Amino acid sequence: MPKEKTRVLLGLTLRELTDFAEESGQPSYRGRQLFEALYRQRVSAAKEISTLSREFRQSLGQEGLSLGVPTIEKKFVSRDGTVRYLIGFADGQSVETVWMPEGDDGEAGDGSEAGNEIEKAAGRPWDRATICVSSQVGCAVDCQFCLTALLGVKRNLTAGEIVGQVCAVLNDQIVSPPQDRVNIVFMGMGEPFLNYENFMRAVCLLTDGVGIPESRMTVSTAGIVPRIYDLGAEPVRPKLAISLNAPNDELRSRLMPINRKWNLQKLVAAARDFPLRNRERLTFEYVLLDSVNDSAQNARELGELIRGVRAKVNLIALNPGPGIAFRTPDENRVLQFQKVLIAAGVPTFIRRPRGRDIYAACGQLKRTVELATPTESPM
Ligand code: SAH
Repeated sequence: MPKEKTRVLLGLTLRELTDFAEESGQPSYRGRQLFEALYRQRVSAAKEISTLSREFRQSLGQEGLSLGVPTIEKKFVSRDGTVRYLIGFADGQSVETVWMPEGDDGEAGDGSEAGNEIEKAAGRPWDRATICVSSQVGCAVDCQFCLTALLGVKRNLTAGEIVGQVCAVLNDQIVSPPQDRVNIVFMGMGEPFLNYENFMRAVCLLTDGVGIPESRMTVSTAGIVPRIYDLGAEPVRPKLAISLNAPNDELRSRLMPINRKWNLQKLVAAARDFPLRNRERLTFEYVLLDSVNDSAQNARELGELIRGVRAKVNLIALNPGPGIAFRTPDENRVLQFQKVLIAAGVPTFIRRPRGRDIYAACGQLKRTVELATPTESPM
């Protein structure tokens, strides 16, 4: 079947849905009804859109037209409550999306955003949650410690496929923003800034449609410097996290080849120039690799490098994986690294790994289908 001829509704803006309704011979308010059904109600089939006339509903079921809601193909539940989803799209490609009840302990886990809007009365053992979404099938950036890199990049996700991951997970978890407090992190498979337009379009649909405020979203980049400037100029945008992972060019180029294109001087300059909102801080992520980038000297160098940037540092001890040539440092080295940074005046947090036992943690997303059954990890 020629898939490219199918018109997909998920991913269209209110304006575009209104145009679509009019083109279909419908009154323009049908556009708003479609928008609400797709993003707020999050229907999975046209027949569920009860606000529409019967004829229009039926015409939506016609060939060549699809709502475009992705399907959950597999689901793994970690003993820490994290859920890793394999989410499939119309062309047979799939990505992973992670649900983390209580947040990810990094983006908002520093106590700065304590909240408990998600009703404990409903019997849920969590009061907020974070969804980690993918932006590409695979990744082209080739960070040496990341499993996704081993896939290479297959293709960009559309805005509808990015939003669709969130819709699928919210429906599965029976959660509805804005009443329920949900954070979004664009930290799954792929480099969001190499799929910038679709990523930004997804952000707008998530804020306007799904009802998740921009202040509850964070995008993480490996350091695509021109897009950092673009993000800073957006009227509505997530918070920014930058994956630093090394305090000097020699080491960073080795771990993250993208550093040869945009080195630390350019990257940190972009961070300094980034227009922060009131009380907003930038995040620097730093994956600790045993005896590679985790010495006290590395920490001092890092403190120097980012001195004066209004930022916090999130430390992540390496999540191991097959084919990754680095080791996880032990707890003491992680604590020591944190101590040095704090002494240098940098707010520094240690991110608790989530769902390592099911390969759901940072850098472990490689699509279930292409991994042997994970064995239980002692970490
Ligand atoms: N491409 C984006 C977002 C995806 S990676 C980026 O690079 O930021 C999300 C985070 O996971 C990054 O901070 C990355 O450095 C980190 N990460 C990658 N592999 C990891 C691993 N094996 N263990 C721990 N963190 C890892």
